[in-house]
Amino acid sequence: MITALAGGVGAARLLEGLVQVVPPDEVTAIVNTGDDFVIHGLYVCPDLDTVTYTLAGVQNRAAGWGLADEHWMVMESLERYGAPTWFRLGDRDLATHLYRTGMLASGVPLSSVTASIARAWGLRSHLLPMSDDAVRTRITLDESASSEEAGCDVAFQDYFVRLAHSVPVSGVRFDGASQATPAPGVIESLETADRIVICPSNPIVSIGPVLAVPGIQHILESRRDSVVAISPIIAGAALKGPADRMMAQLGHEASAVGVARIYAPLAATLYIDEADRDEAARVEAAGMRCVVVPAVMSTPAHAARLAEACLR
Ligand code: GDP
Ligand code: CA
Repeated sequence: MITALAGGVGAARLLEGLVQVVPPDEVTAIVNTGDDFVIHGLYVCPDLDTVTYTLAGVQNRAAGWGLADEHWMVMESLERYGAPTWFRLGDRDLATHLYRTGMLASGVPLSSVTASIARAWGLRSHLLPMSDDAVRTRITLDESASSEEAGCDVAFQDYFVRLAHSVPVSGVRFDGASQATPAPGVIESLETADRIVICPSNPIVSIGPVLAVPGIQHILESRRDSVVAISPIIAGAALKGPADRMMAQLGHEASAVGVARIYAPLAATLYIDEADRDEAARVEAAGMRCVVVPAVMSTPAHAARLAEACLR
């Protein structure tokens, strides 16, 4: 049994590899919900949907979010009303948010809705939100940001999508995390997994919120020898998104070594890309066993090879 801590794209790619090398029903993903937000009254779970759509093979690979073969009639109609359209939702994707919002409104917990959606897409792996309780990632924009909102707090999607993660940040917090309870199955799957995998997701805003839910970090610490992580930073850069800049802005080294310093208390092994071979000794000095592998998942076959290496 494999349990993975997951954000969005980087995690979805690794999970797509994992389900090729172990039976999919032996894989459980505990997914970040700190990015969740409400727009047009709809409850949107970006990371859960990225993982679901990727494992179903229906994701838009180029965009990294949403469904392939989308239509945009609803977005065009919303423009007429002057409604916000900076967060794009395709017509088919909207059905997911309509269904989820309706179920939540009738009292069904997010973990149950997530399971229904995963089942409907034919997934055999188990997808768990980190919590059924609301945890909201808030980003403090640095005073130096060339934005009217410099020095202010914004919701994660405002930073990530509306501001295109192009402004410097000075802080990150996870509102609600300290009062949140892990979703049903989260603790059990971490306690019983043969291997726990921290996916190559943004350590601060994708894995950070999962670890902030009380109980989760503690289990990883106590099972450290069974925990492996894959660096999302390759040659000092994120393959997608702001992880490298965010790490640097928040006082971390933007490198595989910086990732090792964050994960050393909870994971015994870090997989780093061949491009970072020269960093291996510094990763070990940070307290993690270091394994050098091809860590760029440009195709599902590359992802399968990386997943296999992580289970060896
Ligand atoms: P998102 O921002 O919510 O989509 O999610 P993630 O945090 O899961 O994904 C972003 C991170 O994934 C970035 O830091 C990327 O560098 C990392 N990533 C994406 N593709 C790959 C890959 O093929 N290999 C590795 N090692 N990291 C990847
Ligand atoms: Ca995300």
